[in-house]
Amino acid sequence: MHKKRVFSGVQPTGNLHLGNYLGAIKNFVDLQNKFECIYCIVDLHAITNRQNPAELKSNTLETVASFIASGLNSEKNIIFNQASVAAHSELAWVFNCVARIGWMNRMTQFKEKAGLNKENASVGLLVYPNLMAADILIYKATHVPVGEDQKQHLELTRDIAKKFNNDFKCNNFFPIVEPLISKEFSRVMSLRDGKKKMSKSEDSDQSRINLRDSKDLINQKIKKAKTDNEAIPSEANGLKNRHEAANLISIYASINEIEINKVLIEFGGKNFSTFKDKLSESIIEKICPIGNEINKLLKDKHYLDKILEKGAKRANLIAKNNLKEIYDIIGLTKFS
Ligand code: ATP
Ligand code: MG
Repeated sequence: MHKKRVFSGVQPTGNLHLGNYLGAIKNFVDLQNKFECIYCIVDLHAITNRQNPAELKSNTLETVASFIASGLNSEKNIIFNQASVAAHSELAWVFNCVARIGWMNRMTQFKEKAGLNKENASVGLLVYPNLMAADILIYKATHVPVGEDQKQHLELTRDIAKKFNNDFKCNNFFPIVEPLISKEFSRVMSLRDGKKKMSKSEDSDQSRINLRDSKDLINQKIKKAKTDNEAIPSEANGLKNRHEAANLISIYASINEIEINKVLIEFGGKNFSTFKDKLSESIIEKICPIGNEINKLLKDKHYLDKILEKGAKRANLIAKNNLKEIYDIIGLTKFS
């Protein structure tokens, strides 16, 4: 049996948004009282796409600030950045040799992010899931809270763990991780296109609500959010094929922690303008205090650096020890 341990990561690609909050960070906060949790700012994942160095540094601090402002406790949890713990990259190389090329080619995130010009995408973007598997398995984490967009990568993490355990005849060495994906609110979609997920790296700022958006901006973005001409239905069936409408309804449900059916009972038959006012109010109530706290924390960069430094020390203790065991299993010699 493996000790229950939670691991998850967020890329420091700026613009932390409502989807990151509802799909991931909010769950991190709930889990901190139940499990030993490790939360990582995955800067090495961020560089799979070109990053401006100064922005990468400031986005890293903004992500720590967002964690703390959302309610994560830096004593209780291990909070650190990936580049500070070399064992992630070392294990990722091992997994590059365990995972098969065909597995990588099936990953939908690669296809989405590489776009039409696949030949010109970085090799890192293709093997990103191997680094993600290493992030998790270097701590032998058992539970991973993520948004639904990461489900396929977690399945791959399970496949890598199984293949390693099999290839090296070390049954149960790596745990087979359990995804923790909240059922109802797992994927927040773009405000401009209900078929695309809300993303940090999407060009249009109108497509997302950022955690640091002002009240006025949130109001304006929700007013402009795409909907359709029909009224709000009274039952979930009426949301079929109405992606934008369904998205706004589920954001409202998620923010207020109520079921979608209840929202439809309240707003069924009404038009979107009344609903949008209420939606903005709910988002502002939840998100603006977090945004204000992030702004406050960002004034003390030294404090944020200290959190990362302390977290890196704690993470390194576990990771180095596990890497030694892994190298022993494989037969790799390491003097240090
Ligand atoms: P990028 O566009 O740079 O990939 P991102 O918005 O996808 O950024 P990540 O840092 O890749 O954010 O993901 C951090 C966490 O947020 C992951 O657990 C991911 O599943 C979750 N997440 C990201 N976007 C959404 C979304 N739209 N709805 C729900 N969860 C999301
Ligand atoms: Mg992403």
